[in-house]
Amino acid sequence: MVEPVELPSRIGILPFRNKVLLPGAIIRIQCTSPTSVKLVEQELWQREEKGLIGIVPVRDAAERMTVGSVVTQGADSGDKVSKNQSSESNKSDGKSQQDSLYWHTRGVAARALHLSRGVEKPSGRVTYIVVLEGLSRFNVQELNTRGAYTTARISPIDMTKSEMEQIEQDADYIALSRQFKLTAMELITVLEQKQKTGGRTKALLETVPVHKLADIFVASFEISFEEQLSMLDSVDLKVRLSKATELVERHLQSIRVAEKITQKVEGQLSKSQKEYLLRQQMRAIKEELGDNDDEDDDVAALERKMQDAGMPPNIWKHAQRELRRLKKMQPQQPGYNSSRAYLELLADLPWQTTSEEVELDLKVAKERLDSDHYGLVKVKQRIIEYLAVRKLKPDARSPVLCFVGPPGVGKTSLASSIAAALGRKFIRISLGGVKDEADIRGHRRTYIGSMPGRLIDGLKKVAVCNPVMLLDEIDKTGSDVRGDPASALLEVLDPQQNKTFSDHYLNVPFDLSKVIFVATANRAQPIPPPLLDRMEVIELPGYTSEEKLRIAMRHLIPRVLNQHGLNSDFLQFPEAMVKLVIEQYTREAGVRNLERKLAALARAAAVAVAEQEHNALPLNHPISSPLLESRISTEGGGGEVEMEVIPMGVNNHELSNVFRIMSPLIVDQEMLEKVLGPPKYDDKEAAERVVTPGVSVGLVWTAFGGEVQFVEATATPGKGDLHLTGQLGDVIKESAQIALTWVRARASELNLASAEESNLLEGRDVHIHFPAGAVPKDGPSAGVTLVTSLVSLFSRRRVRSDTAMTGEMTLRGLVLPVGGIKDKVLAAHRYGLKRVILPERNLKDLAEVPSAVLASLEILLAKRMEDVLEQAFEGGCPLKHHSKL
Ligand code: ADP
Repeated sequence: MVEPVELPSRIGILPFRNKVLLPGAIIRIQCTSPTSVKLVEQELWQREEKGLIGIVPVRDAAERMTVGSVVTQGADSGDKVSKNQSSESNKSDGKSQQDSLYWHTRGVAARALHLSRGVEKPSGRVTYIVVLEGLSRFNVQELNTRGAYTTARISPIDMTKSEMEQIEQDADYIALSRQFKLTAMELITVLEQKQKTGGRTKALLETVPVHKLADIFVASFEISFEEQLSMLDSVDLKVRLSKATELVERHLQSIRVAEKITQKVEGQLSKSQKEYLLRQQMRAIKEELGDNDDEDDDVAALERKMQDAGMPPNIWKHAQRELRRLKKMQPQQPGYNSSRAYLELLADLPWQTTSEEVELDLKVAKERLDSDHYGLVKVKQRIIEYLAVRKLKPDARSPVLCFVGPPGVGKTSLASSIAAALGRKFIRISLGGVKDEADIRGHRRTYIGSMPGRLIDGLKKVAVCNPVMLLDEIDKTGSDVRGDPASALLEVLDPQQNKTFSDHYLNVPFDLSKVIFVATANRAQPIPPPLLDRMEVIELPGYTSEEKLRIAMRHLIPRVLNQHGLNSDFLQFPEAMVKLVIEQYTREAGVRNLERKLAALARAAAVAVAEQEHNALPLNHPISSPLLESRISTEGGGGEVEMEVIPMGVNNHELSNVFRIMSPLIVDQEMLEKVLGPPKYDDKEAAERVVTPGVSVGLVWTAFGGEVQFVEATATPGKGDLHLTGQLGDVIKESAQIALTWVRARASELNLASAEESNLLEGRDVHIHFPAGAVPKDGPSAGVTLVTSLVSLFSRRRVRSDTAMTGEMTLRGLVLPVGGIKDKVLAAHRYGLKRVILPERNLKDLAEVPSAVLASLEILLAKRMEDVLEQAFEGGCPLKHHSKL
């Protein structure tokens, strides 16, 4: 390329309409017109050595009219091809077309880099595709259009070697070429940056002469035809270089501007525009879904709450996953609410929140227990021991205390005293009637309406993870097909396992190890042994009447008065009346009903206060209350006293203050009957019930503590059957059979039948009934009572009404020991009975009975059934004398 090309004096011409091929440029053209096909065929295709053709720009005549001056002016030499010349030319292409063409006076010789020939189907026309490279400029001396294609006589424009050497010394030229190279270099750098191309273009700058470079660069830009022409006409190298520099510079600028614009546009779009667009899209989506922003706020609030909940990391991860799910859901979607409720629970649970444990002062704790509870010395002592261990070793595996005893004996309030002594929150979880494991562990969330279990629910409510939790009535949980709640409780109470208690609903472990568990039960026996094993049973016996009186006077009455906004200035309970309430209106092991009755009295008194208040004002009692003073002064319309309006009856302390001057209401028997109705129980009950033969007084043990149980037997004409009623279990039914057999076997010994009618059941049925027929009863301890009632029935002698009995009997008449002696003796005492017959082997159990109770009772011990009968009847057993011997 460096070598100048030898140009022929005549050359075949390919006209380029409105286009210029500059030296150094490479172009691909398709030749289809007959003249151009002929030209290519003859000048390039059929030549053996490589041929050259001349490319000469032509323009439409119409265009020439407007820009003609530019064309003629643009040539340095001012040469131009006359119209005459061109009009002579090329008849084969049609005269009219030729006429309208304007041929430029300069062209560029080009050679073919690649040639391919094709035959069009079906016409059979030959076409060529030619890749041409521009080589050097020439001047058109003369056009000849007479042949198959145009030819021209040409003369070269390019400088000779010596001329080149000469101009290369020219300072202007050197400056210009340096300038050009710099600009070109700059362009290349910019382009390379943009397209990340390698440095091949830069190498060109070093190897190719500057004047050729100028053509090559300009050829690669998209510039107007006029500019192309003027470049073609820039024969002077200096002119060419400065023109090229200018064009390169312009191109560079345009690239820069374009870049700036894109950057600017992109930048703007990426900031506000992009944000705006996204927001618009989001709003549109939400509108479409019917979401509102409240929901968003709610979810955001939920998220904040979750962040504050102090969840352990793994649970936090789990919660976030669920939250992401929630965020994607629409509120109407099924599962949204359940997912939300679940997250609310996670956020509400006290993962770390604790109530600050106060420094435990055992003395204060003891005082507190004493002030809250009367008696219960041993129980309180045990609780103090428990607290002392905790104080010394807070994280010791202390056992779970389980208070066992009848209702109303203070189990719950003891547990809450423990909480108060430790400064912890207290929560009671009722387990009574829980048969379903899901009550403890919750339902899996796949169930509709699933909920967490009672424990997790309770923890959510107390909102601390270290409360004292009372598992109330732990003996009342049963197991059935729905699983075994006891096994779940086992996990709860096991310090090894409760660190990771799993609730099915929660589905993540919750640490229960900081919770202090306390349990209550009415009876220890139904508690499954493994569960019982984890607990330390503390028995609370029922109270004696005297104890109840003390509890009532010291604890219940002050509390009840306080609850009703009264005080002792206003309402007084004389001891005698409380005793009456205890003996005639309640008959229970605990004090729950007693408290209720006292509350009923206090309520009635409060009503009386309200009524009295109404009457009191006009009477103008001497007033001590500032409240009333202000009221009266305004009512009188007098002084300008600033009025303090406190509705009467709301502030109860004020209420009782107002009427302090009035005589206090004293509970009397009349008030008892008015408020509580006629007495329900009295000492005479037993006496009244045993007036007829066939009734005996037994002592049984129930969930409510010991009870007096009457047994009624009667005989009717029949076929010798035994009928039993009163919701009896199998064991008690068998006891009845044994009793009847025993009595029948000893009928004559017992003087129940004459020798001739040895069969007691001849012609009659025996019916035994246990009153309180709705209460299920079972157990062997009614044995002796059953025999006694049968003996009474057949001997037609009444049993003693002041004597109660308990004991299991064997078929041979031995009396075996039974359980619950303490409660039974207390029950006999409550009922006002004076004598109690017990199996001899139960003697040791009497140690548990309060001595005051023992002192008021005659305890009779029986080894055999005959001993029982001896004591049960007035004047001894109706046995034949000889049998006694
Ligand atoms: P439980 O849980 O055993 O069924 P509670 O603890 O609910 O019984 O007691 C019932 C009521 O009797 C409570 O108000 C309690 O304070 C009161 N009470 C029970 N025993 C005593 C006691 N020894 N001294 C004072 N109050 C008592």
